[in-house]
Formats: sequence, structure tokens, C-alpha cells
Amino acid sequence: MLKIEDLKASIEGKEILKGINLEVKAGEVHAIMGPNGSGKSTLASVLAGRDEYEVTGGSVSYQGEDLLDMDPEERAREGVFLAFQYPVEIPGVSTTNFLKTSINQIREHKGQDPLDAVSFLSRVKEKMKLVEMDQSLLSRALNEGFSGGEKKRNEVFQMAMLEPKLKILDETDSGLDIDALRIVANGVNKLRNEDNATVVVTHYQRLLEYIVPDYVHVLYNGRIVKSGTKDLALELEEKGYDWIKAEAAV
Ligand code: ADP
Ligand code: MG
Ligand code: MG
Repeated sequence: MLKIEDLKASIEGKEILKGINLEVKAGEVHAIMGPNGSGKSTLASVLAGRDEYEVTGGSVSYQGEDLLDMDPEERAREGVFLAFQYPVEIPGVSTTNFLKTSINQIREHKGQDPLDAVSFLSRVKEKMKLVEMDQSLLSRALNEGFSGGEKKRNEVFQMAMLEPKLKILDETDSGLDIDALRIVANGVNKLRNEDNATVVVTHYQRLLEYIVPDYVHVLYNGRIVKSGTKDLALELEEKGYDWIKAEAAV
């Protein structure tokens, strides 16, 4: 589904990603961990196609196509979903309208007719139940005045509605209380299937108590310096990152 090879990226002339290699197959959940400032959010942003980052080398293939060649809207249409640390607020646009537009753009791209109102509503009901979301959030402007937990729930709901192939979540410690962690984790677990894949960026071993990843990678100083299974996350929780830094320095 996703193959990243020797990916290098800079911001304002400073190299942040220094050769990332990562392969994610359908059905898998990967966690990316690492100390602050390692480049985790940069990696997520580059995959999203945010233009303040300059890709200076390497390649990213998504379902056999060159991801870096697609603009952010194309990526979304092709089934890439990115949930961000700081979700955007769109004043005056309700979640429902936002989703209806997004879903119909994806359908149009696939040559399908727009979803009719009845089918749309039944999908809304089904997915709201799945993520245990309160109906009142739907009619409010997207993320405007939402609490941290509400934003998370809404983000997971959007993810459920759009049925993406590749989900990339960048979760920091900022504003994630235990409830928000559970919301994200439950969403990821329930939406997981054999046809989609998830990459979760997290500082938190704790999140991985709820989401059991197939693979854990440690990003440090712009490179993936260690990969393992969920046991690696436990080891990091116990020992911190100093030993990783020491190993990387050799
Ligand atoms: P992480 O998510 O692992 O904490 P980031 O990807 O946010 O790391 O940041 C990696 C490095 O890139 C840090 O040294 C950070 O200061 C720098 N960086 C990130 N965004 C910018 C920016 N917009 N301008 C300048 N430097 C940036
Ligand atoms: Mg950071
Ligand atoms: Mg970050």
C-alpha cells in the first residue's frame, strides 16, 4: 500500500528527514514513535502533501503510484486520510456538509453517482454509532469551539465516513486526555480491516495499550533507527529513548 524509500525533506533549508524507509501493507497498523523534534510530524506532513516542506530526495509509492506527484486533494480522493494534531476549524461549514462534499468528490472521481440523501444519512447513523458520537456535533461548524475530545471524536467520525485506504494519524501529548486516547484507539481498532492500513504517530506508549500495532518504528534525528513489534513500545516506555540515541550515535 505504501512504500517510502530513502525519503529526505527539508524546511526552510534545514534537512529534517534524512532518509526514511518504511513499507506498510494492507491490513497493517504501524506506530511511529520517537523523541520530540525527531521529524515525526514532518513525515506525516510530507505524506499529506503540505507544501511548506520540500522533498529533496527519495520516493513514496502509494498503491503503485507516485504519491509525491499528487496534490493533497488528489491524495484524499485516492483514499489517503490524514488526521492532524491541530484539526482545522472551518467557520460556517458543518461537519455534515463538509463530509457530503468530500464523499461526493471521491465518488465523482471513481465515476460514481453522488450519494443520495437517504444513503448519506444511513451512513452517518451507522458510523456515528461506530464511533459513539453525539448527533449534536454534526450540525455545528466543523471543529469550531469543539473541546479536545470532541475534535478527536469528530476526526475519527470523518475517518469512518470517508472509508480511507491509508490512515495517517499524528497524535501528540498536547490535549490528549485519557478519554481522547480511548476515542482515537477505539476508532482505529473498529475501522481496521484487511483492505486498509494505519500509520499512527505517537509520543505515547499509552495509546498503544489500546491500539495494538503490528509494527513499531522509532524515528530519531530524521531516520528510522529501530523497528520492532509492540514489545519495542513497552521497552521504550520502560527505558526511555536514551539507549536509542546512544545506539544511533555509534
Ligand atoms: P516531532 O513531530 O518528531 O516532534 P517535527 O517533525 O515536528 O518533530 O520537527 C522536526 C524538526 O523540524 C524540529 O527540529 C523542528 O524544530 C523542525 N521544524 C518543524 N517544523 C518547522 C517549521 N515550520 N519551521 C522550522 N523548523 C521546523
Ligand atoms: Mg513535536
Ligand atoms: Mg510531532
